[in-house]
Amino acid sequence: MNFNSQIQSKNQHIVLPELEANNYQLFIKREDQIHPLVSGNKFRKLKYNLQKAIEQKKTTLLTFGGAFSNHILATAVAGELTGFKTIGIIRGDELGNNIEKTLATNSTLRNASERGMQFEFVTRETYRNKTSIEFTEILQKKYGDFYSIPEGGTNSLAVKGCEEILSTEDHQFDYICVCVGTGGTISGIINSAKAHQKVLGFPALKGNFLENDILNISNKNNNWELIKDYHFGGYGKYNKELIHYINQFKKDTKIPLDPIYTGKMMFGILDMIKKNTFPKGSKILIIHSGGLQGIEGFNHRLKSKFSDLKIL
Ligand SMILES: *Cc1c(COP(=O)(O)O)cnc(C)c1O
Repeated sequence: MNFNSQIQSKNQHIVLPELEANNYQLFIKREDQIHPLVSGNKFRKLKYNLQKAIEQKKTTLLTFGGAFSNHILATAVAGELTGFKTIGIIRGDELGNNIEKTLATNSTLRNASERGMQFEFVTRETYRNKTSIEFTEILQKKYGDFYSIPEGGTNSLAVKGCEEILSTEDHQFDYICVCVGTGGTISGIINSAKAHQKVLGFPALKGNFLENDILNISNKNNNWELIKDYHFGGYGKYNKELIHYINQFKKDTKIPLDPIYTGKMMFGILDMIKKNTFPKGSKILIIHSGGLQGIEGFNHRLKSKFSDLKIL
């Protein structure tokens, strides 16, 4: 993987019996295939930030995230590949009490650690104030002059990178569907989509704050909409139906989905199709933003609650 390259991932046709009746054409852009540990959209978000860090002659990347964060692992891998030291400020001081146990049971942090990331586990309160001047000064004293990347990787350079997800061949689509966490990825898509296209965002979390974030960092306001019915109770929340759905979808299409983002979106799209929300003959492009690295850790947590449930 080269962070200077212009990657175009392929669009794969989704063939399912329920799509035939109304002549829907569904394609999925396999951004998940860019790298096994770097979620597709995290590669896009890091690309121009890495270039900026090199330009500024920084040697360390510092960023923030939860214990299962795709962005944390992506930053660790990117740092290793491009020669940066990486520091991860992780939410949850209890994780630092027994680091060996934490790494043994959390594959996201283990993989990041194996790629040289150094962790600082902080309390939830410190984490909430992670961008304060006081905490930033503490970090600077401890780690020196670093390039700071926000939680989830979203800033204006990240949006610029996400503008490269769509290519000219994608202008043929009527709808572009994408998962929403912090809103950086959808903002890039909004910026590069054509006027005749509608961008549908599927938030993986509950709440109404995202619209303003997206309005602030994107440059159009009339070609997109958030579909808020498919967060399954909030970030990281799920039910058995979602797990069974993800397994069935993989069986039918050979396409793996993650339970935090892409599984919820795909469930939503197919539900909307069932309810005839899209006009007949619609051409729909779905962005597979990755997240597959999280399945191992998710299954680990799932096992302690439902011993018979597993993402296959
Ligand atoms: C981080 C992530 C998202 C959310 O992207 P935002 O730019 O934060 O909205 C979506 N899908 C996957 C797989 C992710 O890892």
